Amino acid sequence: MPFTPYHLGPSGFLALVFRKWIDLPVFVLANVVVDIEVLVIGILDLGWPVHRYAHTLLLGAAVGIAWAIAAYPLRNIFAALMQLIRLPYRTSLWKMIISGILGVWLHVLIDSVYHFDLRLFWPNKKISLHRMIVRHLGYKNDEPLKDRIEIACIILLLAAVTLYVLVVNLPSAKKSPRASSRS
Ligand SMILES: [Zn+2]
Repeated sequence: MPFTPYHLGPSGFLALVFRKWIDLPVFVLANVVVDIEVLVIGILDLGWPVHRYAHTLLLGAAVGIAWAIAAYPLRNIFAALMQLIRLPYRTSLWKMIISGILGVWLHVLIDSVYHFDLRLFWPNKKISLHRMIVRHLGYKNDEPLKDRIEIACIILLLAAVTLYVLVVNLPSAKKSPRASSRS
């Protein structure tokens, strides 16, 4: 996807739904980290398709693991940020690794439908989910598909915001005894 913000919808929504098992900051930020590849290839003008190695299941998993290991020392910062947005946060290295891998995989899965140059199953360079879906839907070009994905991402962003508002206002989130001790 050209702009990482589109990934905020699906990643934010899923991270909130599975927040007990997923490290939300690691999962969501994995979606930003993996797009560094696009920037680097673009800026250095390497002449490769911009979605090359990190945007694959195989090397994307490695990127997710590397990101989780790099993020592990930052866990106290994440905890403070999560407290700021009033979401409970408990993590471990394993939780971060799983979240890093799944975050990157979600990103590359969406990108593989959106972008023609992405080869999800690299080193197999022949299978293109994008091409298969465009053909399957009988589109003449990929614009209608891209439009649909963008709309789905925006809908998921709205769903994520709604879910967030619900989660922080759940009775269990307000259990703090000080909240009711106004005098
Ligand atoms: Zn991307």
